[in-house]
Amino acid sequence: MKAFLDHVGIAVGDLQASLAFFRDVLGLHVESSEEIASQRVRATFVNTGTSTLELLEATDADSSIAKYLEKRGPGMHHVALRVDDIEAALAHLRGRGIRLIDGKPRPGAEGALVAFIHPSASHGVLVELKQPAPKVEMFKTVGRHTLGDYELISLCDGFIGLDGGAMFGVVPKTLWEKRLPPDDSNRIPLSMRPLIVRTGELTAIIDAGCGDKMDAKLAQIYKLDRRYHLDHSLAEAGLSVDDIDIVVASHLHFDHVGGFTAIGANGSIVPRFPNAKYVAHRAEWEDATHPHERNRASYLQENFVPLQDAGVLTLVDDGAEIVPGVRYRRSGGHTPNHQVVTIESSGRTAVFTADMYPTSAHIPDPWVMGYDLYPMDTLAFKRAFAREAVERDYLLFFEHDPSMAAGYLREQDGKRYVERII
Ligand SMILES: [Zn+2]
Ligand SMILES: [Zn+2]
Repeated sequence: MKAFLDHVGIAVGDLQASLAFFRDVLGLHVESSEEIASQRVRATFVNTGTSTLELLEATDADSSIAKYLEKRGPGMHHVALRVDDIEAALAHLRGRGIRLIDGKPRPGAEGALVAFIHPSASHGVLVELKQPAPKVEMFKTVGRHTLGDYELISLCDGFIGLDGGAMFGVVPKTLWEKRLPPDDSNRIPLSMRPLIVRTGELTAIIDAGCGDKMDAKLAQIYKLDRRYHLDHSLAEAGLSVDDIDIVVASHLHFDHVGGFTAIGANGSIVPRFPNAKYVAHRAEWEDATHPHERNRASYLQENFVPLQDAGVLTLVDDGAEIVPGVRYRRSGGHTPNHQVVTIESSGRTAVFTADMYPTSAHIPDPWVMGYDLYPMDTLAFKRAFAREAVERDYLLFFEHDPSMAAGYLREQDGKRYVERII
């Protein structure tokens, strides 16, 4: 087995006093602090470069750290070794007759799996094995792609966290958590990636992220992270809100059109793109402006009603060509009139898949969101669309994928996968 030093655990009686030394005197940086209910301890991680110190405080008189402190006083408690596959490591040790405290891995801090080796087997040192939670790379870079005569630019309006169960519907957690590991509130990291289409004559943007009108309470619920957002992304692409001629909505949920409007100078809500004409689907607009209990939380009126008031909104129907080569195509399912947007130029096709394929993990046909109002419609659309995408070499854009903006759907030996392009 291969193991690397991950951290050294130190039992502390008084966390503040120990921080006064490790942080203030040694100048080390405190990374995070987390309560681990199952072990009745609070762990504070102090960064020391390639590994960390874990300061362990008891949260209960019965916790093993409280007993350790009582018996031996504060001091070094354990050494943690990082392994890739903790089950395999435990099997390896068991096969060599090594005495274990934990025969099976259990949940540790930061979503890791941990198990302890008995100190009698490891020369008096309590050894922890740790398999860290898989890390999702939060990719926010501006991505450019030439499609025929058009230029496509993938932008980012930051990240949100949505319930993993709701994002994957009937798919068991044991399957989806491998692709997108959840936090302790079961939220998975998702991006918001609007797409710019430049035809040479016009600059269009499809969707615009969730914008900056969300109140603090909702922002916390949705784990909104807009330290980097659409304005940064536009600037990085050499653009600003003034350069956008047409704004297109895949559908009118807040994580797609929150950025369509902004709070103006006098506190009123105004179109975010001052020179643009906005386009939405007529029947989607009807649904969004007449919400019911099941969709009300997603249709926030301030994101789109001010556009109509300002006279900048055009409503169109299924299959409408919005810009030459840029068309709506109804996928339904997620909402009855949810649209994917196809972009065609010189024989090449790209598809902005919006909430039909929110992430590349949603490629398997039955991996349909619990949020979808008509999941069987989503399934039927996906079945036909996937075949078409493989055969016709569509470049697919994934609006909510935290670590991939676009790729080609490929099929080999009956298995589908995405070849990442951006
Ligand atoms: Zn949606
Ligand atoms: Zn969405």
